[in-house]
Parts: sequence; C-alpha cells; structure tokens
Amino acid sequence: MENIIIIGTGCAGFTAAIYAARANLNPLILEGKQPGGQLTTTSEVENFPGFPEGVDGYLLMDNLRKQAVKFGARIQNSFVDAVELTQNKKVLKIGNQTLEAKSIIIATGAAPRLLDIPGEQEMYGGKGVTTCATCDGAFYREMDVVVIGGGDSACEEALFLTRFCSSVTILHRRDEFRASKIMADRVLEHPKINVIWNSKPEEIIPDEDGKVKSILVTNIKSGEKSEVNCKGVFIAIGHVPNTKCFEGVLQLDENGYLMPENGSSVLTSIPGVYVAGDCADHVYRQAITAAGMGCQAAIEAERWLAEHNK
Ligand code: NAP
Repeated sequence: MENIIIIGTGCAGFTAAIYAARANLNPLILEGKQPGGQLTTTSEVENFPGFPEGVDGYLLMDNLRKQAVKFGARIQNSFVDAVELTQNKKVLKIGNQTLEAKSIIIATGAAPRLLDIPGEQEMYGGKGVTTCATCDGAFYREMDVVVIGGGDSACEEALFLTRFCSSVTILHRRDEFRASKIMADRVLEHPKINVIWNSKPEEIIPDEDGKVKSILVTNIKSGEKSEVNCKGVFIAIGHVPNTKCFEGVLQLDENGYLMPENGSSVLTSIPGVYVAGDCADHVYRQAITAAGMGCQAAIEAERWLAEHNK
C-alpha cells in the first residue's frame, strides 16, 4: 500500500509532491490527460512570485516536475476511473489496475470550457485567444479586446481588462447577464465596456501573422452577421472541474467542484483524503493559490499519517 498518492500534475499536484517527498513519504503521482496542467497551455506567466522577468508556463511546470522527482516522487501516467475511499484504505481504479493508498491528495484541476469554433485552437495561448484575464490581460495594453460570456467570470474579466485595454466588448448569447446584479451593474456602467447582446461567436479570424484580427459574430435574433475587430479574445464561459470519478463519494457543489470541509480549504469528510487546486477552487484559480493548496494538503496528509501511525 502506498503512503500517499497524488492525483494530478498541475501546480497543486507537483507542489504537494515536493512537500510529501521531502517528508520522506515516497509519494506516487498520477499524471492524467494533460501532463503539467493548465499552465502548459499558456505561454508567458508573469504573476508567479519569484520570476521578475516572467516564466514560460511549460518551463515552470517542467521545473516543478524535476523538483518533485529530485526528492524522490514517482510519476505514473494513469487516469483514475473510479475510487473507493474509507478512513483506512483509499482504492483507485485505473482500467484493470487497482492502486491502494493510506492517503490521497486530489489535484485533478479544471479545464476552461471552450467555444469549439474555427480559429480558437489555432490561436489559443499566445496568439490572442485566452481563458485568463488575470494571467494575460497585461499583454493587451492599449488594445481592443472581446470577452465572451455573461456570468460573473466574464464580468470580472471585463472589468479587470479595462485597466489595460483601450476598449472591452462583451459578447453574450442572451439579452441579460447571468452574473450577479452588482457585477452586471458595474459592467453596464463602465465607460470602456460595450456589450453585444443576443450574439454568438462563429469564427476567430487571424491576421497575416496568425494572431487574432477579429471575431465573426451572428445575432441570434436577427441572423445578421458582423465582424468585431480585436487583438484579444478572452473566453469566460465557465470551467469544468475534473471530478467525475468522485461523484457520489465526496461532496461536490452544483458545478462539480469538490467542497472542502471543516473550515479548511483542503480537508474532506474522509480522513486521509485531501483536495488541492482548481478542482476545489472556483474563486481564485491561480497557479500560486493551487500551489499553496498543494502545500497545505501535503502538510495535512503528513500530520495525519504521523498521528495515526500509518
Ligand atoms: P457561469 O456562471 O456558468 O457563466 C457562464 C456564462 O457563459 C453564461 O453567461 C453562459 O451563458 C455563457 N456560456 C456558456 N457556454 C457558452 C457557449 N458555448 N457559448 C457562449 N456562451 C456560453 O460561469 P462563471 O462565470 O465562470 O462562474 C462560475 C461560478 O463561479 C458561478 O457560481 C459564479 O458566480 C462564480 N464566480 C464568482 C465570482 C465572484 O463572485 N467574484 C467571479 C467568478 C465566478 P448563459 O447565461 O446563456 O447560460
């Protein structure tokens, strides 16, 4: 039986692995369908403390991986299909294989929901299409940008972008926001923000350098098509946490996020089971907060294992 299995190799998973490995717990990390997590899909990361010149997202994750391995963490490429979790034993089912551990840290992350329209994948990460204003907003100083969505995230991203951008256009498929009234009001009152209602994006069009030039939009009510010029497209239509295999086993909120318990951000209802990063956090969703949760989860696991002579 393993001491500890960490599920996920994003910022949360690798940070947990570094701490668990340095505590001599010999952790096993399971790497799923997106090795290195969401940061590997971005280019420059400018807000991770310690890198005044910024750092390439892929490189940052590769460094975290090397740091975890240096202290003895083992990495196995496996996607967990189902779990059976009790205080004494945590069983993970991976195809025909079964793994057992005394404790686990769930750091499976979340994936931003995408539009699935032409141009999106081609220009994603560095060429004008992004899913994170906090991460990428500063690259769009004095530029016109479009934010897609009508929820709190879209409003928050749009308001944040007004600090840098010349103009922010929100594109929403209905004629009212889903966002809370206070956020919606702030957006509607902001002089830099324009809203295009009842409209859905059809295609993101590149310039001659392969970067975003404009977005093609259809008005759902009139059928009229128009082209909105912009340098950046911020997609804010929600995230999908990677938590399917925990349904019915751990508490999830209505959007599928794992819900930490006992006033903590990493404890669950089952002793020895911890959560960390975006699979349990729809509020902050930052690399550094995920790393912080990974650290907390590993320290909790280490203490629990020690206290229970495991
Ligand atoms: P959300 O509330 O699910 O909103 C997603 C938005 O994207 C909706 O307006 C939806 O349109 C639109 N959308 C979904 N799929 C689309 C598609 N394929 N094409 C075009 N538009 C699409 O997601 P969220 O804004 O990320 O918020 C998630 C949760 O986090 C919410 O509970 C939210 O309150 C919370 N949150 C809170 C804060 C805050 O309090 N500061 C900040 C961010 C998030 P429809 O409206 O037509 O469905």
